[in-house]
Amino acid sequence: MTPRQPSARRSLTVRPRLPEPIVGLATLADNLRWTWHAPTRALFGEIDPHTAIVGDPRTVLADAPSARLEQLAADEDFVQRVSDAVEELNGESTAGTPFGYSVAYFSPEYGITESMAQYSGGLGVLAADHLKAAGDMAVPLVAVGLFYRHGYFHQRLTVDGWQEEYFEDNDPHALPMTEVAIDPILVEVAGRDIALRVWRVDVGRIPLYLLDADLPQNPEDLRLVTDRLYGGDVEHRLRQELVLGVGGVRALDALGAMPTVFHTNEGHAGFLGLERIRTLIKGSGLDFSEATQAVRATSVFTTHTPVPAGIDRFPRELMERYFSTWALECGIDIDGLMALGHEPHERSDRPFNMAVMGMRLSRFRNGVSAKHGRTSREMFASLWPDVPVDEVPITHVTNGVHAETWTGPEVAGALEGTTPGDLDPQALRTARDTARARLVTTVRDRLRSRGLAAGRSPSELRWTESALDPKVPTVGFARRMATHKRAALLLEHPDRLRAMLSSTTEPIQFVFAGKAHPGDEAGKEMVRRLVSFANEPTNRNRFVFLEDYDIALARSMVQGVDIWLNTPMAPLEASGTSGMKAALNGAINLSVLDGWWDECFDPGSGPSGTPNGWAISATGSATGAATGTATGTAVQDQRAELDANSLYEILEHQVIPLFHGTAEVGHDWHDLMVRSLETLTPRVTARRMVDGYAEHLYEPAAALGRLLSDDDHSGARDLAAFVERARDLWNGVQVYEVSMDESVGELGAPRDVRAAVHLGGLAPSEVQVQAVVGHLGAGGEITDPQVVQMALEEPGDDPGDVTAWTAQVELSVAGRMGVTVRVMPQSPYLGSGTTSGALDLGLVRWAQ
Ligand SMILES: *Cc1c(COP(=O)(O)O)cnc(C)c1O
Repeated sequence: MTPRQPSARRSLTVRPRLPEPIVGLATLADNLRWTWHAPTRALFGEIDPHTAIVGDPRTVLADAPSARLEQLAADEDFVQRVSDAVEELNGESTAGTPFGYSVAYFSPEYGITESMAQYSGGLGVLAADHLKAAGDMAVPLVAVGLFYRHGYFHQRLTVDGWQEEYFEDNDPHALPMTEVAIDPILVEVAGRDIALRVWRVDVGRIPLYLLDADLPQNPEDLRLVTDRLYGGDVEHRLRQELVLGVGGVRALDALGAMPTVFHTNEGHAGFLGLERIRTLIKGSGLDFSEATQAVRATSVFTTHTPVPAGIDRFPRELMERYFSTWALECGIDIDGLMALGHEPHERSDRPFNMAVMGMRLSRFRNGVSAKHGRTSREMFASLWPDVPVDEVPITHVTNGVHAETWTGPEVAGALEGTTPGDLDPQALRTARDTARARLVTTVRDRLRSRGLAAGRSPSELRWTESALDPKVPTVGFARRMATHKRAALLLEHPDRLRAMLSSTTEPIQFVFAGKAHPGDEAGKEMVRRLVSFANEPTNRNRFVFLEDYDIALARSMVQGVDIWLNTPMAPLEASGTSGMKAALNGAINLSVLDGWWDECFDPGSGPSGTPNGWAISATGSATGAATGTATGTAVQDQRAELDANSLYEILEHQVIPLFHGTAEVGHDWHDLMVRSLETLTPRVTARRMVDGYAEHLYEPAAALGRLLSDDDHSGARDLAAFVERARDLWNGVQVYEVSMDESVGELGAPRDVRAAVHLGGLAPSEVQVQAVVGHLGAGGEITDPQVVQMALEEPGDDPGDVTAWTAQVELSVAGRMGVTVRVMPQSPYLGSGTTSGALDLGLVRWAQ
């Protein structure tokens, strides 16, 4: 018997003493850049040549024998590389940046690396990729989130495939973060104060601040506010969001890190807008509407879900309890508060909608793919009742992924110094084979260790040694197991799938993974069906379901699979990002046309005619045949049937024969990979995404913010006064008459349009009048409208209340053309840009 060991009551990390020439290693180890930065990984790999893959480099340092460290300190090349890596890390962050503004990015979760379990899925991984790319580009950005002691749940499967959940403890002192030495941040939570400490995580050049309520001075129930990610009931959720939004702004203030622009990643951090309004009222003497204008001008809101159930809603009673002090300080009543989270005309006792507040308290808003932009404009159209859906001021920036994080070493190596088109086919194939073999090893290890943990004997688990085949084309599917993602679509006709799996001449294999939300019974049932299919003895070597999907598994999968499968029910996939990660690794996407794939799929428009992947159910898929246009069909089952058939067709007639080299088409698998890499690599990176945010949202927000805040916020005051005036007078604004010669004209010829407009007391300079022209539809509607600015006919100081406006429009469409005129308020303080300033107010008067 081993003697009983004493168990520790407290623990700490002890740093080794590093020789002077390589002290920089400590800096490199403390910064999470090592998780994606190959040169840094190489340095730590060399400290202990026996550990090929770097775990936590702080442990590597702690475990390193001092003789080894001395040896490295004497190695000039090593010392130089340490100092290069440190310099690159610090370099541009201190040297100033090309960006003339700073941004605070708020998100409820961050998925930086598997060992920081502060994420549940896509939203968190996206947030982390945003930070990583922003750092690479030296965008001055600070990030704010919560530190969850127990993170998100882990998934364990019972023998019958039912999901069980359990939580792990994250000891903050053992994680790569440091406590910031400031007084605790205080936030009022329904009459009590909660104290928050602040942790700092360094993600490349970007600092991430995480707020943590687990302090001894807090009452027990409040210590638990940051216990779990998305845990607890609706009140718990409200408290978390209060802490994130309000506490986050206060923490930035305490850190001296108040930014120019605030970016809210989904609605959960939206209360930051309320805190900013309050501080402007207290600190700068603005009234509520002035402060609101100032806040909106510098706020960017990104919506991520077209699923209404995905939006937080809080009952009025809770809002009243948690925000009555705030309302009092801001000089508004509870109805006024509730209106921020309501659509127009919504009853004031309806729950408070965080996405609606996000829209109302931001001037700059976006969805996360072109298609999701359109869906969002429809979803939130009620906030701009007189604005045509296409012009609802919500734009889009398509999501992207951090290439250095997600590209595997094999394919990165093959692509180094060359372009996909010039790649040696053999080099790419070898890279893919190696990455696939690595995935197969991971799968076998995971299956075996989970089996052992579940009490199986090694002999019962012998089959795992030959689970999957490193040479067989591999399809990956991994994501949250929610009903609308339809993970079980492939099981619609299990015999058809079994036939593919059991082929001895042209086999194919599948790897599935994903967690269902603990409260989602339908999602859990989907997991159970997949697991039970995977457990069939005839399937288990070709079809596996892996437990506890996380970033590490995601990395192996996107790097090792040949085909990435995605089967959402359109249009419910906002973007999706896993297929992008797979594409960077040379995998081919096989997906429903939704989210990012809707804009990036190319059926073969290039000179070679090779497609860059496959679209399930699309006309013009690589077969060239319409395999069912399920979109728009009301009946979900029918859609599933059509999509499933399309999926089987593509697998049987495209994927399998192409991979095995027996397809009789004009291209082969290598061509597909090249086409996918060439067309997708430039479009799917987080760099492209952050560029989009910087150009279309951050930059105009910073500019408008300056305009409104200069001279003690005189712009915000003027704008608030103008908006009030415009609203008051708006009823009197009328377009009397639109006149135009209606005789037949030649295409391309000019035609005059005149309008008589009653301004109701507004000055001509306070409005803009526009002619709207386009195709005339059967019901008299104008489709594909073009907007032409109209000019005041007789500019003068006092043109009287009825004004005449003119424009020359081009007869730009053949056939029937329609023309109308509209008026909108106009002020330099409304800003312009992607989400048009004048439309933002939602005051549009159309000719009757
Ligand atoms: C990329 C990623 C996601 C996001 O997947 P979607 O394709 O957006 O559904 C979720 N979880 C992990 C671990 C990831 O790496």
